[in-house]
Amino acid sequence: MIYERMAERVREAGGTIHLETPVRRVVTREGRACALELEDGTERCFDYIISSMPISLLVTRLPEVPDAVREAAQCLRFRNTILVYLHVAEDGLFPDQWLYIHSADLRMGRVTNFRNWVPSLYGDAAGSILALEYWANDDDPMWKEDSESLIRMGERELRSTGLIQDAPILDGYVHKIRRCYPVYNRGYREALAPVRDYLRSIDGLCAIGRYGAFKYNNQDHSILMGSMAAENIVKSTEHDLWAINTDYDDYQESALITESGLAPVETGGAAVA
Ligand SMILES: Cc1cc2nc3c(=O)[nH]c(=O)nc-3n(C[C@H](O)[C@H](O)[C@H](O)COP(=O)(O)OP(=O)(O)OC[C@H]3O[C@@H](n4cnc5c(N)ncnc54)[C@H](O)[C@@H]3O)c2cc1C
Repeated sequence: MIYERMAERVREAGGTIHLETPVRRVVTREGRACALELEDGTERCFDYIISSMPISLLVTRLPEVPDAVREAAQCLRFRNTILVYLHVAEDGLFPDQWLYIHSADLRMGRVTNFRNWVPSLYGDAAGSILALEYWANDDDPMWKEDSESLIRMGERELRSTGLIQDAPILDGYVHKIRRCYPVYNRGYREALAPVRDYLRSIDGLCAIGRYGAFKYNNQDHSILMGSMAAENIVKSTEHDLWAINTDYDDYQESALITESGLAPVETGGAAVA
């Protein structure tokens, strides 16, 4: 709903949003990002480009990238998520919004109960939709399994947690998200540093977000990065976007989010409004 509202605002201000428009690569000329080449081969020119595509793809597809930077970018790895949604024919299964599942016998890592989010999500609808999360690398056999077998595994595992007792499962749906978790493996900071420095050297290009900047961001940090990137362009501020993420909360705590942008605060402590 937040993103739908943002999209409305962009359109109201005369902006255009192109959905389902995959970008193949960013085009640079004389050290400046100037265009996007789309997967269908067309090229569109822009004054500034803010990228949230996975950083390794952004960098390896840029023209004339030094070999050392390309190799470093290839060391940045992502992990995938499989979401198995199950529609359970029961309303009051358990009171939590989500539960982390720590059991060597089960492969799921988390279960979310959307019944316990805002009531307007369900209205008068009966039952509960649960999402089971499975984390997998590209070469894990589970990543390649088809929806039917993943739904069967989800049903089996959910039943064995005892969370749904004998409640019938009415339906299932699988959604796979590739490259959704940056992997903080040993040495990733050393690999990220030359990539970050190279991207900084390209005018008019800015990498943001969880995959775009390879930061274990939550949504608030990703939105903050986007807002600050916009401020850097529109207000010529010099926010260091690489300083924002959940590991370095000081950055966020030392700024106050106001209606017109970010204002520095003098005192310490949590100051996010
Ligand atoms: C399963 C799961 C649960 C989560 N739960 C929470 C939570 O409870 N709370 C929370 O705060 N955060 C949560 N997060 C994290 C949150 O979703 C991310 O931090 C946030 O969405 C990152 O925003 P972003 O803009 O960087 O990336 P995204 O929201 O993923 O946006 C990146 C966009 O770039 C597009 N893109 C990528 N490549 C290309 C290309 N080549 N061409 C065109 N477009 C492209 C993608 O399609 C996508 O729309 C969760 C994440 C996952 C995976």
